[in-house]
Amino acid sequence: MEKTGNHLFDSLQDSPLQTTILRAAKRVTLLPGDGLCERGKIAKSLFFLTQGVASSSVRLGDKTSCEVGLVGAEGLIGYEVLFDEEPSRTDTKMQSQGSGLCVPLPLLTRLFTDAPGFRERVLSFASCQSSIASQTIACAMRHSAEQRIVRWLLQVSDRIQSDTIRETQQGISERLNVTRPHVSLIVHKMQRQGLLRSMRGTTLIADRRGLESRACECYGVCRAEIAGLTHDFASRRKVPNILFPLGEPATPRTTSEESAA
Ligand SMILES: [Zn+2]
Repeated sequence: MEKTGNHLFDSLQDSPLQTTILRAAKRVTLLPGDGLCERGKIAKSLFFLTQGVASSSVRLGDKTSCEVGLVGAEGLIGYEVLFDEEPSRTDTKMQSQGSGLCVPLPLLTRLFTDAPGFRERVLSFASCQSSIASQTIACAMRHSAEQRIVRWLLQVSDRIQSDTIRETQQGISERLNVTRPHVSLIVHKMQRQGLLRSMRGTTLIADRRGLESRACECYGVCRAEIAGLTHDFASRRKVPNILFPLGEPATPRTTSEESAA
């Protein structure tokens, strides 16, 4: 089967799981600002991004919001609902243009319960997200606004595989909780140093190595987490034919895959 570009989905490797998901999926093109998960609601569908990056944020009582995570083509957006079927705690919207597979929640809930191969991959992705969230909290508490802006620009650039990042300085300010004048000051300083070029609503990474040398350790730690996850997905053994037709009872825990694990 042709690779879609989503690492979690592609790791299912020509299994009946992939065929089942693809049969129910809608291929979607996404624009910046498109909503994927809304706080307080249970998503009807989850997304395997194949291109682009989405941003999750938490809204606070004073009506401000802060970005708490970025997800690209490494995993499954909205996966948390598979654990507890509770409304989302975060808003997740596209930061960039992109594309993906939009898959109805009931099917993925069923697979999460019945198909160990799928469940294992979602859990690996969740573990990776948890490690990245921990590092991001440490970053927000200890590292400078400049370091956080550099980390963010590099993380988005990695996800969209481009050095051109479409985001206003106001947008960066709101995402990272850095005042707009402070963002402007930092961006202008890095522009003078030849690291960035800033145009209306767009930032171009002009010297990637130079920018990486300004990043705090958090960028490297988070990048390594994702590299580890995608390597793990790429090296997974083929998923055995363990998917029972929809409507059959749940798979017992003695599937061939789990016995072999
Ligand atoms: Zn940091």
